[in-house]
Amino acid sequence: MEKPFRIEILAVGSELLTPFFTDTNSLYLTEKLNDLGLDVSFKTIAGDDWDLLATAAADGLNRTDLLIVMGGLGPTRDDFTREVLAAVLGIKLEFKRDIYRTMEKRFKVRGMEMPHINKKQAYVFKGADILPNPNGTACGQWLDTGAHKIALLPGPPHEIKPMFDNFVLPRLAAYRTISASRLVLKITGMTESHIETLIEDLYPKDESVRLTILAKPGQIEIHLTGKSKNAQKAEEKVQKIGDLISRRLGENVFSTGGESLEEVVGTLLRVRKETLAAAESCTGGLLSHRLTNIPGSSDYFLMGAVTYSNSAKIALLDIPAQLIERHGAVSLPVASAMAEGIRKTAGADYGLGITGIAGPGGGTTAKPVGLVCIALAMSLGTEAESRIFLGPREKIKFQASQKALDMLRRRIQTSIPKDSKDTS
Ligand code: AMP
Ligand code: MG
Repeated sequence: MEKPFRIEILAVGSELLTPFFTDTNSLYLTEKLNDLGLDVSFKTIAGDDWDLLATAAADGLNRTDLLIVMGGLGPTRDDFTREVLAAVLGIKLEFKRDIYRTMEKRFKVRGMEMPHINKKQAYVFKGADILPNPNGTACGQWLDTGAHKIALLPGPPHEIKPMFDNFVLPRLAAYRTISASRLVLKITGMTESHIETLIEDLYPKDESVRLTILAKPGQIEIHLTGKSKNAQKAEEKVQKIGDLISRRLGENVFSTGGESLEEVVGTLLRVRKETLAAAESCTGGLLSHRLTNIPGSSDYFLMGAVTYSNSAKIALLDIPAQLIERHGAVSLPVASAMAEGIRKTAGADYGLGITGIAGPGGGTTAKPVGLVCIALAMSLGTEAESRIFLGPREKIKFQASQKALDMLRRRIQTSIPKDSKDTS
């Protein structure tokens, strides 16, 4: 049997050995490699220590065909991955004037002079391909020594991700022996066990397709992975089972293409040329934050107001003081009045109102911690629902924002005729 192409990841940085930083880059890289049907056989984290890093790199090279080394390419004294690897490989570093000039320009456009210490970032292994970095000063490198392939990549996630996608993955296409395809169904309004019971008979019989159900705050995900020698076959396998599950779970499935709920809601609003405004109490702006994280959200999101106190609700949303006195700030009538108030103020098609008790204090028997009232105001009228979410404060806030987005999504999707409905 053909020997598999072995891949190993070496993450460099003392901060990654503390409880405050996580090596998230290797998760990203592994996901992308797995999509190509390539597995990672070993992962190491080394601190910023010359000898230990040299040992880790030498050990890795003894075991693997491709060693991906990331981090420690910065200009400061504690960054010396490039120099250690050159020593371990017995390869010279060469100064590249064009890299130096490119770095100088990066500083110049920001009206700054490049510090002298950045010069070391213009040194690369003799014979290496340079991997451009439009998002930072540290370029990456790809070196094929014959015995090994080495990818040297920067640590900051927004730098390594595009570099890996654009310059490393294409170099690995030749090593895939098997193709993999992945599909993620994202679901709201159902529990893990509820889903499991409903789709039990659809579980793949074929061992080359894997199904995993993952519970996340405010949503459940079904991950399907299919493997085959043929890329199209792998995709067909997961698509077939994904379609069956989607049909079974109906409109509880809000995404099959990786989109977040806020993206799905944004697309629905944009397509329909409709607008939204939000009045938030316990979520403290989280709903507005999530909506505005989506590029182009100004097309449909008009305004968000954090009306935390009763007086803010009265002054900004025109809510009668007696309504709050009679029902309490966390109540369906107040959530409805918030949604209606912000809809009117913004002149939006939809208004969302959220009021709740995020805890850990402030709960009563009648209104426990986690109780959240959410309302959606629209031309047809206002609908309001309450939920009791469990967990710490931040999780309750997230689930409340998720429920609000989902109410709007379902309302819009049920008003779209079935045959023209976007199933995403
Ligand atoms: P460096 O390339 O070592 O200067 O790393 C710069 C920054 O990138 C570090 O401070 C980390 O915040 C981040 N970083 C480095 N390695 C990783 C990693 N494996 N996963 C996630 N972030 C990382
Ligand atoms: Mg570092």
